[in-house]
Amino acid sequence: MALPSVVDTSTEQSALARLDHAIEVVQAVLAGVDPECVSGEDAGLILERFVKLARPVAAGQLAFARRVETCMTWKQEGHRSAADWLAQKTKTSVGEAISALKTAKRLPDLPATADALRRGTLSVPQVHEIAAAASVDPASEADLIEMAGYLSLKGLQYRARLIKAAATDEAERNAAIRKGRFLRHWLDPEGAFHLHTRMTPDAGAEVLAAVRARASFVAQEAVLAGTAEEGASAYESDALVALVTGDVRYDTFHGLTGGRRRTPGVVYHVSLEALRRGQLEPGELCEVPGVGPVPLKVIENVVGDAMGKLVITNGVDVTTACHLGRTVPAHVETALEARDRTCVVPGCDVTLSLEIDHWQVPFSKGGPTALWNLARLCRFHHQLKTYEGYELRGGPGHWEWVPPPPPGEPPVPPPEDGP
Ligand SMILES: [Zn+2]
Repeated sequence: MALPSVVDTSTEQSALARLDHAIEVVQAVLAGVDPECVSGEDAGLILERFVKLARPVAAGQLAFARRVETCMTWKQEGHRSAADWLAQKTKTSVGEAISALKTAKRLPDLPATADALRRGTLSVPQVHEIAAAASVDPASEADLIEMAGYLSLKGLQYRARLIKAAATDEAERNAAIRKGRFLRHWLDPEGAFHLHTRMTPDAGAEVLAAVRARASFVAQEAVLAGTAEEGASAYESDALVALVTGDVRYDTFHGLTGGRRRTPGVVYHVSLEALRRGQLEPGELCEVPGVGPVPLKVIENVVGDAMGKLVITNGVDVTTACHLGRTVPAHVETALEARDRTCVVPGCDVTLSLEIDHWQVPFSKGGPTALWNLARLCRFHHQLKTYEGYELRGGPGHWEWVPPPPPGEPPVPPPEDGP
């Protein structure tokens, strides 16, 4: 996107030169001081400077990431979203990029917060919290900035959550959370399995209550089996597996089988007045201790259910399993899965629901279903290739992702010694 000619580009050029200079200065300082040769007191002072330095740097990242987002530069480069683009530029997770862009979008309306970040009095996590709360209740911005000075981050998060809860319609908020629900999993560098899920607080409270009820039983089993005592969170992890697998592998935990099921009970804290009124007044809380606020509606449902007058219907999501092409023989499929563990587009690390593409000779033109002609792509990139003119070139180990030429320009010819 070309800048209008009236804009004096010398300002941007001097900004680049001055930033390059700042990078050199910081690098030179680091090269010139050996942390091992500095007193503890001086180390503390130097650390303070680095903390102070990082904050305006973060402010700059947010402001210019926002500009890239609005300019749609990411789209031309074939990324699925601005967050995806930012995650690859900064080598952070897409989740972190999403939250950075959210904050960046809010900051122009919160000049005091933006200024405090630039001056270094607020940290980035503090700014995320303040921006999220002040965007729904702008009057709270100054108070939150002041609180950030003496509260821990956790304390600030709690205050921000209360402000958001008071300022937004609970049904709307719950619907938004529900819309953004997910379950993700990944392996860490040690190979351990991690599960991360986002859901409404009432759903979370039910999960937690069920896990804790089962965990106390797992702990009893461990005692009976004479195994060394472990932390509650270890037993909760066992309990989750026992619950979701329907106890199939329950006996593998401590060598014992059987056991009775505990009825999980969620404890709700809510004022009777609020329940009678059917509405929360400012300052009243409706929450599951240890989990957080839940909509009043949830309690009404629970009470109704207990009295047999209301039926709680849980939305059941039917996720259709995406079966891989029927024409792919099992042994080819296995080899392909081993070769293309992620989407083959460079930089894309999607592993879920990968689709098989006949990348060299299309299936419609008689392309064989053989390993050399197949590649696994995520749905997003598969669609770009099928419908938007993006091309996959190279081959395993040296894949290239070629965006279509701008309208009016001839396509980039493939290399002579093409695959
Ligand atoms: Zn992909």
